[in-house]
Amino acid sequence: MARETRQQRFQELFPSAPAFRWRQAEAALFQPGATGWGSVSVFPKAMREAVEAKIPWMSVTLHRMFESRDKETFKAVLSTEDDLLFETVLMGNAREQWTVCVSSQIGCAMRCAFCATGAMGLKRSLTADEITDQLRFWQSFLRGPLTPSASLGTSRSLLRGERSNGGASRISNIVFMGMGEPLTNVDSVKQAIRTWVDQTDIGPTRITVSTVGVLPSMDQLLEDKDWPSVRIAISLHSAVQAEREKIVPSTVPHFLDKLADWCRRYRQILGNRRHHLTFEYALISGVNDSADQAEVLARFIERCGSPKLNVIPLNPVAGKAFTASEQKRVERFKQVILQHGIDVSQRRTMGDDIAAACGQLATAEQPHVI
Ligand code: SAH
Repeated sequence: MARETRQQRFQELFPSAPAFRWRQAEAALFQPGATGWGSVSVFPKAMREAVEAKIPWMSVTLHRMFESRDKETFKAVLSTEDDLLFETVLMGNAREQWTVCVSSQIGCAMRCAFCATGAMGLKRSLTADEITDQLRFWQSFLRGPLTPSASLGTSRSLLRGERSNGGASRISNIVFMGMGEPLTNVDSVKQAIRTWVDQTDIGPTRITVSTVGVLPSMDQLLEDKDWPSVRIAISLHSAVQAEREKIVPSTVPHFLDKLADWCRRYRQILGNRRHHLTFEYALISGVNDSADQAEVLARFIERCGSPKLNVIPLNPVAGKAFTASEQKRVERFKQVILQHGIDVSQRRTMGDDIAAACGQLATAEQPHVI
């Protein structure tokens, strides 16, 4: 079932309104401190009242909030208009600012063997508004105080003023590393990115779309003149085709060859400083973390024109037999990569005590959807 976005509803309400009216409406959504359409003083009264009656100010509401012990990570369970639950995460980042980790779908169809979201299956894709509003939700959360209707599961003593540099409430980065596969929901993902880029000071290079490697969509991106210059992260997890098929079951035949070819075209078409590619690699004990596998990976990365590599020791997921590689093995793995002169970083694990880390997002309280 198609769900209407705010923009579609607006256009139905005011089919002959000039384009600037929708732009004013969208700008109002991001006005600091605005809590509803009532404050949009640029609208004629009748228009404001019609919008107030017909178009939700927020497409999601807070269902539950979790805060990590170190207060560096927050996970919100949000509820949609049709009463489905999904998760979004706010993390303190290295620059003493905040990174928002957004979901693009409720659940996921990709079923990666080590990921909690995959085990839920796909409930539905999120609309552009539901993606857009995850950022708006965290913006108003950081601005606080929270709207009275929002019921926080945990303390709200939090943050404000607690981070050192006065940039306490600034969100500087957005990553599509929450629930879902963004490249199976491209139109909504793209629309949300465009809205963020238009309405905030978060530029496209501060936004990362992480994909399991949906090649047809990736091909489309290369042709799409409207695709913003966001960073792309590809969840590789193995540079051995047969091994990757075991842990990432959406792997198509000859995936690695096709990916190498895509990377070559990406460099040709979009290859400039603004278009970074990263490979992500969750290190799983005894599965993909040997020195031999690192060697194969290094050669594959070279074949792909040397994108950056980001390794992360696997986050534990309930009911999964996989465990994280020991740090000693992680270091050895990184060493092999470094010997090839390849740039490798290790992602810090955050929010694992509130199941907010990568691959740990899954909402247990999902109502059954028909
Ligand atoms: N569907 C997108 C976004 C998913 S989550 C994608 O596949 O990229 C973001 C990252 O977390 C992906 O790289 C994903 O492979 C990784 N991930 C999933 N489960 C994980 C786990 N248990 N531990 C560490 N990383 C995990």
